[in-house]
Amino acid sequence: MGEGKALLALQEVDLELMRAKRSVEELPEKGRITKVRSASRKVTSELNRIVGVRKDLEMAIADNETDRAKVSELVDEAQGKVEAGEVDYRAIKDLESQLTTYAKRLEKIDFEHVHLEEELGKARKGEQEHLEWLARSKREEERLISAYKERLREMGARVRELTDKRKDLCEEISPELLEAYRAASGRFGGLAVERLNGITPSICRVSLQASQQAQVSAAEDGVCECPYCHRILVVRED
Ligand SMILES: [Zn+2]
Repeated sequence: MGEGKALLALQEVDLELMRAKRSVEELPEKGRITKVRSASRKVTSELNRIVGVRKDLEMAIADNETDRAKVSELVDEAQGKVEAGEVDYRAIKDLESQLTTYAKRLEKIDFEHVHLEEELGKARKGEQEHLEWLARSKREEERLISAYKERLREMGARVRELTDKRKDLCEEISPELLEAYRAASGRFGGLAVERLNGITPSICRVSLQASQQAQVSAAEDGVCECPYCHRILVVRED
């Protein structure tokens, strides 16, 4: 392979290496993983709130049931006294009045119980839905991580392949020309080498004058500097 051809091939390899490195930075899975994690954090915090509500409701229901048991006991006690005939007429009136009060309290307790059970049902449903969402989200995150790792493996393999190819190409180019390529590559953002198509360089596309054509044709090894853009100009590839 002539030096000109090797230089052009080296430039292709280097451009692809640049693209490969950039695309690792820009892999879409990376952004998606961040989004899924951030959404999971929000849902987890909402789940914790719901679990707190559910526990409070369970405690409120336990309290409600304790209250009911206490009042029922008082009712039994009062009724027992009435039925046993242990009390006089006046005391019976008092007990009846107490029983009315207890009945109202029981009604209130039962009404609250229904309401608390409804709220508990909603909280449990919400908790379940959030847990299911998080499980799905976890599976999605795992899928994305494995896709991301697979892409990184593929890219890594390609980069190693290109790096080997680069090493082989560099051996076909003189150290002086390699140094010129390295400098021009930095100056021109990777586009350091152009080829002469007819009388027109492929990157700057300014056609050479007759005198310049003669000059570049005489270039040693078919490689010289473009008189316009000062990139490396490959006149002959072999
Ligand atoms: Zn040029």
